[in-house]
Amino acid sequence: MNEWNSSLPLSSLELIEPKEVEALAEANVHVLEDLLNWFPRRYEDRRRFDAFPVQVTGEPVCLRGMVVDSARKRFGGRRQFYEVVVEGSGDSLLSTSRITCRWFNMPYLHRMVAVGHEVVIYGKPKEQGSRMVIDHPEFEVVQDDEGSSVHLERIVPIYRNISGIPARRLRELLYEVVGRHELEWGEGRSPVFGDCSRGEMLRDVHFPDEMDKARFARRKFALEEFFLLQLRVLWRRQRFRSQPGRIQGRKTGLLRSFHESLPFDLTDAQKRSVHEITADLRSERPMNRLLQGDVGSGKTFVAMGAMILVVESGSQSALMAPTQILAEQHYLTFSKWLSPLGIRVALVTGSRKESDHLDLEGDPQIVIGTHALLYDNVNFTDLGLVVIDEQHKFGVTQRSKLIQQGTIPDVLVMTATPIPRTLTLTMYGDLDVSVLDELPAGRGKIITGMRQKPKVSDVTKFLREQLGSGRQGYIVYPLVEESEAVRASSAKGEVEKWTKRLRDYEVGLLHGKMKPEEKEEVMSRFRDNEIQVLVATTVVEVGVDVPNANVMVIYNAERFGLAQLHQLRGRIGRGPHQSYCILATDGKSEEGKRKLQILEKTTDGFRIAEEDLTLRGPGEVLGTAQSGMSDMRFVEFLADAGLVREARQLAEEALAHDPELEESPGLRKRVEESQRDA
Ligand code: ADP
Ligand code: MG
Repeated sequence: MNEWNSSLPLSSLELIEPKEVEALAEANVHVLEDLLNWFPRRYEDRRRFDAFPVQVTGEPVCLRGMVVDSARKRFGGRRQFYEVVVEGSGDSLLSTSRITCRWFNMPYLHRMVAVGHEVVIYGKPKEQGSRMVIDHPEFEVVQDDEGSSVHLERIVPIYRNISGIPARRLRELLYEVVGRHELEWGEGRSPVFGDCSRGEMLRDVHFPDEMDKARFARRKFALEEFFLLQLRVLWRRQRFRSQPGRIQGRKTGLLRSFHESLPFDLTDAQKRSVHEITADLRSERPMNRLLQGDVGSGKTFVAMGAMILVVESGSQSALMAPTQILAEQHYLTFSKWLSPLGIRVALVTGSRKESDHLDLEGDPQIVIGTHALLYDNVNFTDLGLVVIDEQHKFGVTQRSKLIQQGTIPDVLVMTATPIPRTLTLTMYGDLDVSVLDELPAGRGKIITGMRQKPKVSDVTKFLREQLGSGRQGYIVYPLVEESEAVRASSAKGEVEKWTKRLRDYEVGLLHGKMKPEEKEEVMSRFRDNEIQVLVATTVVEVGVDVPNANVMVIYNAERFGLAQLHQLRGRIGRGPHQSYCILATDGKSEEGKRKLQILEKTTDGFRIAEEDLTLRGPGEVLGTAQSGMSDMRFVEFLADAGLVREARQLAEEALAHDPELEESPGLRKRVEESQRDA
């Protein structure tokens, strides 16, 4: 018999039929380890089943019983469904131990479940007339002639389906495989398991005696995944830092003049960040730093400082923004503050020709643009610093592309999306972090209120009051319709209505379908207070900075994510006036209301991010491909701060003890493979 190691091809196991090997391969399960890594998605405790429900609780139940009736039916003459009645074998005469199961449009099901079958069913019951019904329950027909120790009288693993392999068969396969000894292998071995046996942990994941054991073991495997992730991140960081970087930022005269020219003092958090960045610039190691801070916390002015330091050292700086509006806004801000200091600033965006803008006397010292900066037309003579705004909108590859131009520049990444600390460690674990955890003084408070179907007349009255005292406002509509075109026209319709309601004031429109020039025109008229109210889709989300605007009404607020609402709200509260954010909702969804209540309670972005994480889970919060987390197996554990920190620490220890991982060739191989993929 073959040696049972992790990379043993499944085709070499007699246990598995060639057809099954094919089916498994379709699901990307090729070798023994792949199969063992096919973890249960849930468990059923089939030592004791739930009682047949008599009322709806919203919780799923797991029942065992006998099929006593079945029928194929039609719904309103069209939709076909198959229905069976399952009766509990329990001795309770009091409860109605019957439940109806229905499956729609699955015509072959009557061949799988029929009268006389004993079944285990799992699903959420609902009430229908006098009956309890489960639509599309998961089910398994009990066969007591074989394998009851695998499928019954124990905690049973329920796996994700592999097409071509019945659920019971898959469970039996895993039972066999897990039952073999020798599941300890050296290759890629991590220090995560410590004194625990990895083989035993695998057994506990697949066929646990107790749920606690399964949980404990899963956590161990999650820790292993996170450990490997941290090892890669720290490895990358180690590589990056070992490259020769630039020593710059020694002279600070220009920076001092800049700070003296500002009408305000930097906040302590800004000063701290400038210090941290200065130290990085001066170090011969390349900088790779994340500047994290809520909207309006003053990140731009920190970045400006960094760029000035580099300019004074005789090199160029580039600032990359995620949208054209934002790039243009940055350009205006930079020109306003830096031109008086004699610094040459240029704007490069997709829609504008380089020649229009790079015609300044001499090379520009600071170049601002969108991702167009990455492609062709801009040739930097000597790029010393790259600042990337709103990192989460860029893929990692884009980041490295700009960085590849010339000798490695220092890199500063800015994000206004407050990310819980644990996620930062994972997503940006190769970066050093500076945090702006303090807003500049003299900002008016933002009062946020959720309103259920507010009356138009009330909203209008409130807006007129604020406009009457000289303020401006936003009215935001979300993605009510699928297409941007439809959405734009609905926002257009709203503009007409608001124009009538807010007579005497100018109402403008901003949406994603507008040409960049049109957008810029509307924005500049809003900035100049020629437009008092901006009706907008979410394009106002980033970068709009009009301190005089103090009201925001968000319609269908429940449709936005928490983070997005927080970003939107960040457009107000930028000036000294008290600001108001009205979250209008139809109030139908409880979850939606809970979300909006969080915003009523706090304006602290980090707290909101934490709440978002618990509300939606890490997978949702991070999004998919962009975050580079899409192939993680244990995403749900990202919310487990203790676990993430433990993984980080284990990885740090491993590298401190053995920086090149020479003693663990298996680990080193894994890490190197992942770098190549990236
Ligand atoms: P962010 O980029 O973090 O959203 P900005 O750098 O654009 O924030 O700053 C937001 C607003 O606050 C700007 O209008 C800016 O002029 C102002 N600002 C920045 N730093 C300070 C400060 N230390 N004191 C007062 N106002 C500040
Ligand atoms: Mg440096």
